Amino acid sequence: MKAKIIFPRKKTRSVTVGKFVLGDGQPIRIQSMTKVHTRDVRAVLKQIARLETAGCEIVRVACATDEDVKAIGKIRPKIHIPLVADIHFNHRFAIEAIEQGVDKLRINPGNIGNEDRVAEVVEKAKKHHIPIRIGVNAGSLEKDLMEKLGPSPEALVESARRHVAMLERHDFRDIVISLKATDVPTMIQAYRLASKKFEYPLHLGVTEAGTLVRGSVYNAIGVGTLLQEGIGDTVRVSLTADPVEEVKVAKMILESLQLRKGVRVISCPTCGRTEIDTAKLACEVEARTASFDGPLTIAVMGCVVNGPGEARGADFAITGGKGKGMIYVAGKQERVVPEEKLVDELLKEIHKRSANRER
Ligand code: SF4
Repeated sequence: MKAKIIFPRKKTRSVTVGKFVLGDGQPIRIQSMTKVHTRDVRAVLKQIARLETAGCEIVRVACATDEDVKAIGKIRPKIHIPLVADIHFNHRFAIEAIEQGVDKLRINPGNIGNEDRVAEVVEKAKKHHIPIRIGVNAGSLEKDLMEKLGPSPEALVESARRHVAMLERHDFRDIVISLKATDVPTMIQAYRLASKKFEYPLHLGVTEAGTLVRGSVYNAIGVGTLLQEGIGDTVRVSLTADPVEEVKVAKMILESLQLRKGVRVISCPTCGRTEIDTAKLACEVEARTASFDGPLTIAVMGCVVNGPGEARGADFAITGGKGKGMIYVAGKQERVVPEEKLVDELLKEIHKRSANRER
């Protein structure tokens, strides 16, 4: 039996966002953001439904216009996960978003004008128990910080400190903080400093990380490094891609550190011994089991060299032969199946096990 390595989580204050509690050792929640105009309610609902199916737990929408803010009232009742309004500069939008039923605001209080405006937003947020995420970004730091410190970890933390202080002056503590940068070492160091300085939950992410492969790698390294140090309470993998991909990658990062149990498909890289289309089989197994409840480990192996060994440690497995493969259930050989029927037959076995469990 493999030894389980546990990464102890750093203690943070608990903050409630809709049905979830963030921080204080609660499960790390996966977030994403819609990528259509928020005022296009049908398109937003369609995207959120796909995100929910993929495992997104908190979703953010950009509110750039009056129509976007008003759309929140139509979106919120039709979704099942907490909704966050992303607002810049406009305190009226923040107040209206709360009235429309949003679960959390992402707004930087230092950017919405004078202290009176901050007080108005805070009063409304307090009354409706709505937390605020202070989202500091290296691309939009205050001018004086840029001049003095540049886009450094220290500048990001100092910017967050100023925004936090503004909310605390109004006795507001339902705060979540993010300090995002495109530069992975800067982002890692900023969060490390922030974790020492603040008691509030931290929302992790490498911002503007790039397209699917690059963005996934950069986030895996940035977010993964911090998670294994116990830092982080929510995660968003920002990708220039379908938001569903963001959720898939975030789930995989958490699963890789065993911070969450999901469906894990182990597959071999294939080599000159392979006599079966292992890549196609592995992709199909991954796609068709993505929404299954974990923990579930499935091995898809190209041949019998390492196949039986991996199959023994998996719940289900396929090991390839020539145009056919062996299906394993709970580490034991079940039957030989032609290549084109392998995935269907494997899924039948998985469904059979679920049905037996439910009885
Ligand atoms: S399991 Fe077989 S096919 Fe896959 S990499 Fe190993 S030797 Fe090659």
